[in-house]
Amino acid sequence: METDQTILERCDLWGCIQCGKCTGGCPLSFKTTLNVRRLIYEALVEGDVNPDGMEELWDCTTCGTCVLRCPKEVEPVDVIVALRTELVDGGIIPPTIRDALTSVFRYGNPSLMQPEERADWAEGLGVKSISDGADVLYFVGCIPSYDDRVQKVAKALVKAFHKAEVDFGILGVEEKCCCNEVRRVGEEGLFEYVVEEQQELFSSCNVEHIVTTSPHCFNTFTNEYEGLDIKVQHYTQFVAELIDNGKLAFTGELNKVVTYHDPCFLGKQNAVYDEPRKILQSIPGVEFREMDRTRDRSLCCEGGGGRMWGEGTNPEERLATSRFEEVLSVGADIMAVACPFCLLTFDLAAKAGGYDEKVQVTDIIELVAEVI
Ligand code: SF4
Ligand code: SF4
Repeated sequence: METDQTILERCDLWGCIQCGKCTGGCPLSFKTTLNVRRLIYEALVEGDVNPDGMEELWDCTTCGTCVLRCPKEVEPVDVIVALRTELVDGGIIPPTIRDALTSVFRYGNPSLMQPEERADWAEGLGVKSISDGADVLYFVGCIPSYDDRVQKVAKALVKAFHKAEVDFGILGVEEKCCCNEVRRVGEEGLFEYVVEEQQELFSSCNVEHIVTTSPHCFNTFTNEYEGLDIKVQHYTQFVAELIDNGKLAFTGELNKVVTYHDPCFLGKQNAVYDEPRKILQSIPGVEFREMDRTRDRSLCCEGGGGRMWGEGTNPEERLATSRFEEVLSVGADIMAVACPFCLLTFDLAAKAGGYDEKVQVTDIIELVAEVI
């Protein structure tokens, strides 16, 4: 993206009728000064937008609600990402986001972790390297590789793969950040650099089928890795198939009331709504209950689009708090998620708000692993 062009030249905004449905649906506009309709208005009237000093640009989680709501097929979020690109190019970037980007460039992950420790979580689990040949590449992702809490999700998925006798391998220390969030904070150059390296790696290992832990990796591989001729699935799609065709059977019961929070990058942005629900409903003993805001009306957890790396302008007021009130209103014991960002964001909010005593936040695959 050329940042010497105006916003109007870089984003297709002429269809906008200023109806305001984008801002009306934006979950962040309720708690910060972020107003995407207004940014578009400024672009249309002034011909360009000067992003200097607009701290609220970093509040956007790139959840995609504004894109879904727009009746004129404008993609409002593009304006925010384009303006972030301008800021990044000019070196005006929140320090924590800058550190995450530098870490991706140096270490292949945003958390300043050592690349040689990337596969430590898999020690003793009988996981082979994809370079030895396998039907499926399990693309683990940065958070499940390094974060203590989310490593349990990766381990649960490995347990399910073994149980279903899936022939799978991992890239191990060679795996790098998928760069979905790198692109969303506006670092297009770094995104392109890593994509090229990662694509070469996939080719050299003859990868034909990728299964990801994270909806964010799934999204960027599916929609943004140009020329990637490989089948890509989020693990909920793959596991739902394993259950459907009898390869993964349950041996126990989970007598709990469970609800499900749709991750934005799986649901709103890729329309994967049914498979996670199918898995939950197939677990013996589970009573599944829907919250009011589900599927394409699901509430963003506030973890995506680089928000994991920065606090935003109003960190005190959490969207997650109202989400927990919904979970409690349907009487759920467990809030199931299917995304590392959602898991960490809700875990943190549950502890901060005291909801952890009433509701358990768990990834779907952890529930599956308990009863297979
Ligand atoms: S929803 Fe679409 S048409 Fe309406 S103000 Fe937003 S961008 Fe413009
Ligand atoms: S992507 Fe989500 S957070 Fe960003 S402007 Fe659109 S609705 Fe708001």
